[in-house]
Amino acid sequence: MTITRKRLIMVLVSSIVCGGARIATAQSADLDPRIVTLVAAISEERLGAILKKLGSFETRSTLSSTASTTRGIGAAREWILQEMRSYSPKLQVSFDTYQVPKQGRITRDVELRNVMAILPGRSPRRIYVSGHYDTVARPGGQGATNASGPARDPDVSGPPPADPNAPLDNLAPGVNDDGSGTALTIELARVFSQSGIDFEATLVFMCHVGEEQGLVGASLHAQKAVAENIPIEAILNNDIVGNDKGGNGIIDGATIRVYSEGPEDSPSRELARFVQRWGARYVPSHRVRPMSRPDRFGRGGDHSAYNQLGFTAVGFRESRENFTRQHDVRDTFEGISLPYLAQNARVNAASAATLALAPPPPSVTNPRGQPQISRAPSGYDANLSWTASPGAAAYRIFWREAWGPDWQHELLVGKVTSVVLPNMQIDDYVFGVAAVDAQGHESFVTAYVSPPRANNPIRTGQ
Ligand SMILES: [Zn+2]
Repeated sequence: MTITRKRLIMVLVSSIVCGGARIATAQSADLDPRIVTLVAAISEERLGAILKKLGSFETRSTLSSTASTTRGIGAAREWILQEMRSYSPKLQVSFDTYQVPKQGRITRDVELRNVMAILPGRSPRRIYVSGHYDTVARPGGQGATNASGPARDPDVSGPPPADPNAPLDNLAPGVNDDGSGTALTIELARVFSQSGIDFEATLVFMCHVGEEQGLVGASLHAQKAVAENIPIEAILNNDIVGNDKGGNGIIDGATIRVYSEGPEDSPSRELARFVQRWGARYVPSHRVRPMSRPDRFGRGGDHSAYNQLGFTAVGFRESRENFTRQHDVRDTFEGISLPYLAQNARVNAASAATLALAPPPPSVTNPRGQPQISRAPSGYDANLSWTASPGAAAYRIFWREAWGPDWQHELLVGKVTSVVLPNMQIDDYVFGVAAVDAQGHESFVTAYVSPPRANNPIRTGQ
């Protein structure tokens, strides 16, 4: 036994004996052993087998033929459905089906089917892990697109114009784009449904379709979620997460990028910070690199379809891309690093499991949308209030200098809904609060931010 470990146990024992900080017991260690086991169950071998199977359909183009049982989008979606159904009777696996008339890059009327596996929790709150199973390949691939001119502004919404030359039934193996995100999603459906853990939140493992036609499958599901009031709390979307060798020869298998839309303390940005924090705890050998932008220049992904309808979503992207393989017949199994894909799957698993066991993030605004932060009682204090989250046993306060992206300080407070930090000037810091349950599972942070000011033009005389 190491000295550090002895000390840790002494600290835990003494805090139990003192009985003071009610949740500082052995159960509130940073790691939940059940999540450790779940993360360790992710199998490189299974990820590899799923990728080879996805590649075997030759194309999974959204507009490819559905007549064959071995080739094309129809065969692929049926296999994904049956594969996830085989994992556990607890998983509710179905097609999420839409009739879509010709529009944009959907060049004919088509039936689109996302493949969705739901692992019901005690609460209807939903945490998604997703990828897209459709593929595309066009002459020259993404390498030719990148070399052809300036990147589109990623902040401008809407798909790029349709490519009339994009063939529909040609070879498009898409093993990395986005077989990798799909395999990750399918493998997490297996380990979560077989974990024996009784999750608080409902988990959804979603394989989207129509991504390459302009995020169509994800947009349709997000529209349905708005129309039906489906409480989606967070979406972890994975798109191109299986290759560790850049096309320029630079190799990085030890980090993953996580993109999130702004502004700087938006819920999506807080979700990215959460992934960084909890990924580092359960998978310390892999570094999460949050990116303060919606996505890469000129590129899009399904997380943005959810963002556009107000949902909290982030996009995982491999750190070093090989553009010559993307959207190209060369996107094959040879371009995959299974150890790298498995690390990215572990970070997703740790994040999703922690979120699904934690209480929902607290609300920090009043009914008028104003943040519940003041300088009372002295006029020079930080006085923070929030609404209790169901299941919370305590709350953790975070703050940082108002110039900087990462939380610098944290403080676990009890089962209270307000706290005063004396002489902390609220104007100099960003503050946030997360809900924590009795076992230490933590929500993502809700930050105290001012709503944008209305623009009231001043009238002038003649
Ligand atoms: Zn993709």
